[in-house]
Amino acid sequence: MSLRDYLRGENDILEFQEELSPKYEIPAIMEKYDGGPILLFNKVKGKLLSIASGICGKRERVLKSINATKYNYYEKMIDAINNPLKPKIVNSNFEIEEEDLSSLPILTHYERDAGPYITSGIVIAKSKFGFQNASIHRLLLLDKKHMAIRIVPRHLYAIYQEAKKNEEDLKIAIVIGVHPAVLVGVNTSPKYGVDELWVANRLMNGELKVVECKTSDLLVPADAEILIEGVIKKDEFVDEGPFVDITGTYDIVRKQPVVEIKKVLRRRDAIYYAILPGGLEHKLLMGMPKEAKMYDAISKIIPEVKGVRLTIGGCCWFNAIVSIKKQSEGDGKSAILAAFGSNPSLKHVVVVDEDIDIDDMNEVEWAIATRFQGDEDLIIVRNARGSSLDPSSDQERLITCKVGIDATIPWNKPREKFEKAKWGNRNVPH
Ligand code: MN
Repeated sequence: MSLRDYLRGENDILEFQEELSPKYEIPAIMEKYDGGPILLFNKVKGKLLSIASGICGKRERVLKSINATKYNYYEKMIDAINNPLKPKIVNSNFEIEEEDLSSLPILTHYERDAGPYITSGIVIAKSKFGFQNASIHRLLLLDKKHMAIRIVPRHLYAIYQEAKKNEEDLKIAIVIGVHPAVLVGVNTSPKYGVDELWVANRLMNGELKVVECKTSDLLVPADAEILIEGVIKKDEFVDEGPFVDITGTYDIVRKQPVVEIKKVLRRRDAIYYAILPGGLEHKLLMGMPKEAKMYDAISKIIPEVKGVRLTIGGCCWFNAIVSIKKQSEGDGKSAILAAFGSNPSLKHVVVVDEDIDIDDMNEVEWAIATRFQGDEDLIIVRNARGSSLDPSSDQERLITCKVGIDATIPWNKPREKFEKAKWGNRNVPH
């Protein structure tokens, strides 16, 4: 269950044999094919390793990676979050050991970027309470032994604060190039104290194997292409950014901690995995696991939730469509509240009835046009916690405004007034 195993089973791959630059050139090609085939760059200028990208750049491929369909996806994800499974420990089979990052083909993506960024690194750390955490963080290359790491105040941040309080550097492992099911699992955001790798292992039916690091007791995916071992320095901070995030706009520059590299272990012909910042792969990997968490929360209030979409136009992060089978008049409003309660980054949610296709924005707009009244069906929540990524919000205090639109059919009028007219029984020529 490695990245290379996964690629061997895929047909939708476009390979580039010509020499291409990791600075701007490869990212520009990634952008051109965004949402299309998996891309393999076999010859990277100045480097020996190849690059893979776009693996999770289509909804269908994300589903396939965890052996799910669109019908059982939510249930499968919720089951994995609720039933994390400890992975089996095996011996290391990394073939090459290096002292620094110089062999890695780290990409520089956009014009104003602060420098080359690792975008697919799974950062693993251990709390003083004994549990591991795994999460993806962007890493800015400073020199061949140092990087800056962006840590949003969530789980890794809490573990780092513990280490800082004890006046210790935090030992971490950074893993690049794993089976896409591991990426999906790592992005499920289970509660603090649950190792995301265990969630991934449940998604993989117990097939994930882990190996102990050389410079710490951290357990990391054994089949990874590349493993970077190092520490987050307790007392070194640098400007991190500018960097393009999920919105496709530049995130602000902040002081962030420095990572010092201790060791780099890898396969001899390691495949470096890169995610295009702001590309569809970035959006889907962040958004699809959130859809499952939202589905779970809304289902606890509304018995029949038909689907949840974080829309591509909303960066798979800010705007959601939820379709429900209404059982009482207030269900649309309850679904809005549950959606906001289950996803703090969410800004806008539209709730529709089960006859609306949530993947068709024309249908969603039609529901708003014909079933929604602004003075009765709109919910505005001011000064709520929001995402750090939204340039229109207060990005320092993380304060935003949330808007819910209940575009379900009101029950104080006859339902047939709102239903789409159907064809009579007649022959339609083809
Ligand atoms: Mn966590």
